[in-house]
Amino acid sequence: MANRPLRVGGVEPFSTVDFPGHLAAVVFCQGCPLACGYCHNPDLIPATADRMLDFETVLDALAARQGFIDGVVFSGGEPLGQAALADAVSRVRAMGLAVALHTAGTSPALLERILPHLDWVGFDVKAPFAGYHGVTGVAPAGTKARESLQLLAKSGTPYEVRTTVWPERIDAAALRSIAFALTQIGVSRFVLQECRTPDRRTWPGECALDDTALMAELGARFQDFEVRRAQN
Ligand code: SF4
Repeated sequence: MANRPLRVGGVEPFSTVDFPGHLAAVVFCQGCPLACGYCHNPDLIPATADRMLDFETVLDALAARQGFIDGVVFSGGEPLGQAALADAVSRVRAMGLAVALHTAGTSPALLERILPHLDWVGFDVKAPFAGYHGVTGVAPAGTKARESLQLLAKSGTPYEVRTTVWPERIDAAALRSIAFALTQIGVSRFVLQECRTPDRRTWPGECALDDTALMAELGARFQDFEVRRAQN
């Protein structure tokens, strides 16, 4: 089968917040096998879209920015949904740029293949691994996420795990369950992210992030713990 180019839904030319310690461009991969109830990028969920960018053109643009950026983040959508990611990572590294990945760990096999070539990973844990269906609509995604995270934790590649605290599904019990699983895997850095509606308003309902005792309890389990409030 001929190699297919990476399907790209968009590019953010400069970011200071998506790749710690780097000024990076963000490449948003087109397509995601999940359907999170709070998704802010629904246009990136279909495998293809009318307004996709040609990957060779994206690479040319990245090459032109060398000296202004020192890294590239593959984000989504879900980058691990495309086998072409492996070649894309290699080509960006060959340009002398550091590479980061944002992922929900949907393909342990592909993650294992590219892990040696990654400088940092932002890993989304969507729910307790046994409860992925309620958040993502895809029950087996929890098993794959756990397997991917186990590979990442063993790899030595720097990473953080983050969970978006969606008030409709992620309550105190869910957070305790996630935290317990993460400690079993050996995760040291855990970030809880505030969930906003797609139009950036506070999500209705009780948010576990407002429970200061719970935050202290969870924080005590990790070497590095952060509550990341949404920017207005
Ligand atoms: S993994 Fe990300 S892009 Fe995919 S549905 Fe969930 S929030 Fe949206």
